[in-house]
Amino acid sequence: MTTSPGAPATMRAAVLHGVDDVRIEDVPVPPIGEHQVLVQVAAVGVCGSDVHYHRQGRIADFVVEEPMILGHEASGVIVTVGPAVAQERVGQRVSIEPQHPCRRCEYCRTGRYNLCPHMEFYATPPIHGAFAEYAVIDADFAHPIPESMSWEAAALCEPLSVGVWACGKAGIGVGSSVLIAGAGPIGLIIAQTARALGASRVILSDPAPLRREAAQAAGFSEVLDPGAPAADGSAPGGTSPAQVDAFIDASGAEPAVKAGMRTVRPGGRVVLVGMGADEMTLPVSTILTREIVLTGVFRYASTWPTAIALVASGAVDLDSLVTARFGLAEVERALEMATRPEHRKVLVLPSDLLTV
Ligand SMILES: [Zn+2]
Ligand SMILES: [Zn+2]
Repeated sequence: MTTSPGAPATMRAAVLHGVDDVRIEDVPVPPIGEHQVLVQVAAVGVCGSDVHYHRQGRIADFVVEEPMILGHEASGVIVTVGPAVAQERVGQRVSIEPQHPCRRCEYCRTGRYNLCPHMEFYATPPIHGAFAEYAVIDADFAHPIPESMSWEAAALCEPLSVGVWACGKAGIGVGSSVLIAGAGPIGLIIAQTARALGASRVILSDPAPLRREAAQAAGFSEVLDPGAPAADGSAPGGTSPAQVDAFIDASGAEPAVKAGMRTVRPGGRVVLVGMGADEMTLPVSTILTREIVLTGVFRYASTWPTAIALVASGAVDLDSLVTARFGLAEVERALEMATRPEHRKVLVLPSDLLTV
């Protein structure tokens, strides 16, 4: 570990001390390792998991036990590099892949590094995130972005990576049909990703009228209200059974998962993305008789090049998802806004030096 020449000794950061207790503090700028870079943070997306840690102090077995900086959807500019990193990278605009795998375990060596048991992930206790002026990351996880890409879109390559990973698990390709439950930010990103990958039919479902409107505004014509009776009166939600190749749940709601699974054709796939109910009952006979393949997603691996290319080509539009921006001092307000249905992505801009 080295200190970072060229960077100040301390930085402003939004530090979570406990439930509903975020304080703006001066903290030491993190030291960087041999193969790491220090990034001055330009933009950070607020994620549901940040809100969850703020309100509950924990997610499943991950518990905030000491002060921690939240935020893991980040972009910025490289200001300092470790001794093993090319000096030319200083000044590069990057999207941060916010994880540090061990690179030696079986999972890391077989390309499934998201399952690394030694993973250090931003804003997952006790690892600091990016609601701060600076953040440290492995040099190869600081992904260069094209000049045309905004800081905000670069930050949102993180949730887009979830979409890329989920669509991969769901086997989405040219001509696929997919039902996505939940038209919040992640559902909208998954829908855009599926469309970019060639899906010919992308159906979204959400009980909130504002979210259904947002999905329609994003160009999706099949947007269902799961509470409404179907046209033929058969089942709520307007989908008849066994018609889609894949169902992706971005809601975490048991009724949505059950209804979604029943729309999957024989041999189709179900992918669970949403965090909600920890346990739920599932329609086992549907899974058995249709040989449905069911899996979850845990973050992502090797998705950034695809995510950046999808944005750079215009196939996925992340900028239009941004509905509010806050400075570092207003992180708590940003966390609160992020839960409201009228907002899609809420961004924190920690550094005064960078313009959006
Ligand atoms: Zn996230
Ligand atoms: Zn590993």
